[in-house]
Amino acid sequence: MLNDRKEIIVIGAGVVGLTTAIRVQETGKYNVTIISETFPTDPRTIRYTSHWAGAHHVSHANGDARIKALDKETFETMWQDSEPDGRGTVAGLFFRHTHTEFRGDGIDPSPWLDYMPNFCAVSEHDLIPGSTAGYTFNTVTLNTPAYLNWLLVRFLSGGGTTKRSNLQHISQVLDTTTNPAAVIACPGIGARFLGGIEDKDIYPLRGQTVVLRAPWIKNGRTLSGADGSFVFMMPRCTGDVVVGGKKVPDDWQVSPSRTPRPAERTSILTDVLAFCPEIAPPSVRAMREPTVKDLEALIVDEGCGLRPARKGGIRLEVSSLERSEGKNIPVVYNYGHSGMGFQTSWGSASVALGLLEGAIDGVGDGELSK
Ligand SMILES: Cc1cc2nc3c(=O)[nH]c(=O)nc-3n(C[C@H](O)[C@H](O)[C@H](O)COP(=O)(O)OP(=O)(O)OC[C@H]3O[C@@H](n4cnc5c(N)ncnc54)[C@H](O)[C@@H]3O)c2cc1C
Repeated sequence: MLNDRKEIIVIGAGVVGLTTAIRVQETGKYNVTIISETFPTDPRTIRYTSHWAGAHHVSHANGDARIKALDKETFETMWQDSEPDGRGTVAGLFFRHTHTEFRGDGIDPSPWLDYMPNFCAVSEHDLIPGSTAGYTFNTVTLNTPAYLNWLLVRFLSGGGTTKRSNLQHISQVLDTTTNPAAVIACPGIGARFLGGIEDKDIYPLRGQTVVLRAPWIKNGRTLSGADGSFVFMMPRCTGDVVVGGKKVPDDWQVSPSRTPRPAERTSILTDVLAFCPEIAPPSVRAMREPTVKDLEALIVDEGCGLRPARKGGIRLEVSSLERSEGKNIPVVYNYGHSGMGFQTSWGSASVALGLLEGAIDGVGDGELSK
């Protein structure tokens, strides 16, 4: 009975808000409404990070057991969704491939990547310039814009509701829905400004990407350099390849045009050509040494986004919001996913669901006392 279901509000329609809303909805116990300023079908904006991700699943849990668990659950979900004849692959969302993580920084990622299919070390002979070790395994890359739309459609076809609103304070959700049992806040970088949260530990980690038309590239690659540099190459099922490498803390990209920076585009293409010359067209490589100009001819898109980084890591916690005098409802926080929002999404959504149910069960009809 639809009317017996509790009303849950999710703030935010990025990958974190969408996957959380779906996890909650698929219990069959709740009516879920997403309230958000921006949705996947809107034009891309610097205020919505999810549009700018590559996105691949290559864990950088760095010894953090909590992140490893979130990554692992998400990988298992994506691996299942990307079965060769699965719904996600048929819809052009996933690309399964071999990824090689090259390291020049002396860090051994085996402890947090060892569950990936066919995980093994690269022989010394196959190392690339700038690397001292390498690890290869199977993983998945998402066709990000299509994947976000797919999540939204899945939520709507499951009976979900969406409302567009640019909230100034989380308490404003109480004006839009009668008697919600709980709120789940997934505002990404917006957590820094949204009243009732205003989390000053949130800061941007700016990234810039270039999308190249290079259907001959079938495998992914990353290089973490000794100097802290980071270069990545992610092939999508469309034949496009997302390349990039910038991670600039506290850079809000406030230039008037809000466009990618040309100097960074050149630097990305230079780095990518150095670590994977095969990205240049085979016809060019057959005749001469490829140059950055050869890659510029392949550009189909580019962009920059603000990863919602957070001192202290992802916030998965519960507190409360006053609904009326003396009566509170639970607020679950799920934000601060930095450069791993896609690859931790389903795991984070499960934790958020557990917090939600614990809070609701703890207060009978969904109310908390102060
Ligand atoms: C260049 C680049 C490459 C990346 N590559 C990868 C990758 O390969 N793998 C990976 O896992 N991750 C990757 N990421 C990181 C990933 O994109 C983010 O972690 C993820 O998108 C964060 O999602 P989110 O839902 O938390 O935030 P967002 O996508 O920003 O969504 C936030 C939502 O909250 C809403 N909102 C915020 N404030 C308010 C308000 N006041 N009122 C109403 N609504 C509000 C917004 O409108 C939006 O809908 C990459 C990021 C960048 C920039």
